[in-house]
Amino acid sequence: MENVMIVGTGCAGLTAAIYTARASLSPLVLEGRLPGGQLTTTTAVENFPGFPEGIDGPELIARMHQQAEKFGARFRYGVVEDFQPGTNGQPHRLLVDGEWTECRALIIASGASPRYLGLEGESALIGRGLTSCATCDGAFYRDVPVCVVGGGDSACEEATFLTRFASKVYLIHRRDTLRASKIMADRALSHPKIEPVWNTVITAFRTSSAGEVSGVALRNVRTGAESELAVQCVFVAIGHVPNTVPFRKHLHTDQNGYLIQTVGTATNIPGVFAAGDVADHVYRQAVTAAGQGCAAAIEAERWLAAGQ
Ligand code: NAP
Repeated sequence: MENVMIVGTGCAGLTAAIYTARASLSPLVLEGRLPGGQLTTTTAVENFPGFPEGIDGPELIARMHQQAEKFGARFRYGVVEDFQPGTNGQPHRLLVDGEWTECRALIIASGASPRYLGLEGESALIGRGLTSCATCDGAFYRDVPVCVVGGGDSACEEATFLTRFASKVYLIHRRDTLRASKIMADRALSHPKIEPVWNTVITAFRTSSAGEVSGVALRNVRTGAESELAVQCVFVAIGHVPNTVPFRKHLHTDQNGYLIQTVGTATNIPGVFAAGDVADHVYRQAVTAAGQGCAAAIEAERWLAAGQ
């Protein structure tokens, strides 16, 4: 039986791994579908304290990984399929790639994944003119028209960022008011390169003979009018989905599926802690995720020391 298992290797999971490993708990860390988490899909991280010159997301993650290994954390690839909470001193059980593994304390740091539109052929187009990350892919689309889907802060931020490269940025939103904060909305809407397309949804992707996105089919949700828009990339910014499916049967979640922390990083099941984007839809920063990973590790350590 493991002392501590950590699910996820983003900033939260790796920080929890550093702290629990340094406390000689020899954690077993599960790397899931996106090892390293969302930071691996970014380029320069300019706001992580301690790096005044900035650092590449993948490098920051690689360093955290190395630091955790140095103190004795063990890593294994595996996707959690099911979870059974331990009660009355029994271990918690995780079904990982068909095999049950037991642990005394569990830290869930499985993050959140970008939400996509759910249109036909969508998954094949990711990376071929369809993306959820302007920071990663914006620079590939210089002097061509692109679009951003969504009406929140992310959509406005991405649209504004993309004006550095694209010739034109259409901001496609399903309503006629943005959900974004006023400052972000004003910045986007006042930019000469950004053109909002209100009350509109994408109904299909158009592709070139090379299988890359070449445009989108649109429908105005008020009038029902159909139209076409030529764009070379679609940036989807319609929120995130927390990776909590295997845990939802037993752990309390909010209406969007984010794990609910009770006190600190504790969940409703004693000995199970949640850290980072899996429980945080507000801040979603590398440094806040790392902070929660640290807190979860300390709380798990104290929980184990109390002989639970
Ligand atoms: P969000 O605030 O949940 O906005 C998601 C947007 O996508 C909404 O406008 C929503 O439309 C739209 N949407 C959702 N599902 C859709 C679908 N299936 N088809 C079309 N449109 C859809 O998400 P977010 O922008 O990622 O922001 C999440 C949190 O992070 C917020 O608290 C935000 O303030 C914060 N954030 C902050 C910053 C910053 O301050 N620098 C940057 C990014 C994010 P409706 O409006 O109609 O619901």
